[in-house]
Amino acid sequence: MDDRQFRTAMGKFATGVTVIATDVDGDVHGMTANAFMSVSLDPKLVVISIGDKARILEKIKQSQTFSVNILAADQQELSMIFAGQLKEHREVEFDRLDGKPVLNGAVAQIACEVSTVHVEGDHTLFIGRVTDIHLEDAEPLIFYSGKYRALAEAVTV
Ligand code: FAD
Ligand code: NAD
Repeated sequence: MDDRQFRTAMGKFATGVTVIATDVDGDVHGMTANAFMSVSLDPKLVVISIGDKARILEKIKQSQTFSVNILAADQQELSMIFAGQLKEHREVEFDRLDGKPVLNGAVAQIACEVSTVHVEGDHTLFIGRVTDIHLEDAEPLIFYSGKYRALAEAVTV
């Protein structure tokens, strides 16, 4: 099985899009990620998966905190900025939730403290203990087969 086949198959799992953000000595760093999952209700835990080569990896290890910002349908540009897909640098302002940097306008801002860390293959899984949440009433951005999409109502049966 080659890498392309694996990625094509994984891309068939439609997801939302998040920006993971962290802060080391006041310097905020963000990264686009769709490897995000709810883990536990009691205690409230989530997981993110960060590739070996991502600059944010060392930063989260240092700060031991991160936020997950679930992007709204009108925030595709933010996804591209934090995936390094835009040529020019853009200034992005961050708000704060429980002291963690968060993106204004995200469908959900989830503040986390690192609970445990698991290195698996070429990624590191961070289990985050959720310390605070802020919600907005907006439609989410969708990622499917390598393309951004919008949510559609299911056909009623
Ligand atoms: P960099 O490449 O250094 O940063 C990414 C970009 O964000 C750069 O252009 C940088 O200038 C900009 N940036 C960072 N902080 C700021 C700031 N404060 N203000 C303004 N701009 C800033 N990779 C994973 O490891 N796990 C995933 O789950 C994952 N999911 C993805 C889902 C999608 C839909 C996409 C498109 C990509 C995904 N990636 C994922 C890949 C990942 O987003 C890129 O490889 C990313 O460039 C790696 O980030 P980095 O930490 O190395 O940071
Ligand atoms: P793509 O076809 O590369 O990705 C489709 C799916 O494959 C993703 O949703 C993810 O589930 C999986 N995937 C892709 N790269 C992976 C990796 N390095 N490790 C584990 N799973 C991976 O989609 P694309 O639009 O070409 O992606 C843009 C860029 O973002 C690519 O460089 C891709 O590698 C990267 N990306 C990385 C991850 C990740 O590390 N978990 C997830 C999504 C996208």
